[in-house]
Amino acid sequence: MGHVHFVGAGPGNPELLTLRAARLLNEADAVLYDALVGPEILKMIRPGARRISAGKRARCHSMGQSEINRRLVAEARRGGRVIRLKGGDPAIFGRLEEEVEALSAHGIGYDICPGITAASAAAASAGVPLTLRGKVRGVRFLTTASCPEEPHDPAWGRLAGGEETLAFYMARSALVRIARRLAAAGMRSSMPVLIVEAVSMPQERIRAATLAEVGAGALTADPAQPVLLMIGHALGAHAQKRLTRAPALSDCA
Ligand code: SAH
Repeated sequence: MGHVHFVGAGPGNPELLTLRAARLLNEADAVLYDALVGPEILKMIRPGARRISAGKRARCHSMGQSEINRRLVAEARRGGRVIRLKGGDPAIFGRLEEEVEALSAHGIGYDICPGITAASAAAASAGVPLTLRGKVRGVRFLTTASCPEEPHDPAWGRLAGGEETLAFYMARSALVRIARRLAAAGMRSSMPVLIVEAVSMPQERIRAATLAEVGAGALTADPAQPVLLMIGHALGAHAQKRLTRAPALSDCA
């Protein structure tokens, strides 16, 4: 009845793939991949394998989800090694549940090969931890985006205390809004923030700022790159040494 491997492609740099992901790509008969998967990783697909671009950008997508599900089922039914390749970790903001449901409805089995999620790669690139012993006791992967484009409001009051590092995915158009909501909920204005674009790729850019600077609109993000907004005490640890400082507000007039 066929079988599908959901494979995490990590944040872009092929060296951040798992060995298992590399092996599966090298043995694939068909690969359905998302737009976020980096070109260097696509080069690792076995020559001769069918490549199907699901053309999906982070929030909305050109091939609709039902079309992706349909293609996935069709490829699995043809047999062979079918890979569904997703950016980062397939279990995080990857609509994995919808694709698994479609497969299950047709009696098709699957397994999941995890990948490095963008927030882990971002902390590594910035040279900072995500937790601080005795101070930051958790990490939260979250998003305010949903499709269609209606912003979702988490419980800001619970996030504002700084007990957890916050990693906002799909954050490009929400930077200011998120910073202002957190500030309004009581987060201190000097809280360290990282604005992370295309982590692990050649065009990687990571900027360090404070909550107040982001809330004031001092930083905008490149519309062509995936953007992650990270907020929390842990991120301030060593970031200043290695990263570009956000320009002072007066420089941005
Ligand atoms: N499954 C992915 C997330 C998919 S949602 C993961 O685990 O990383 C898409 C969002 O992930 C993007 O909008 C961005 O917020 C983040 N993202 C993915 N790759 C990224 C990268 N290389 N650099 C920065 N952010 C990235």
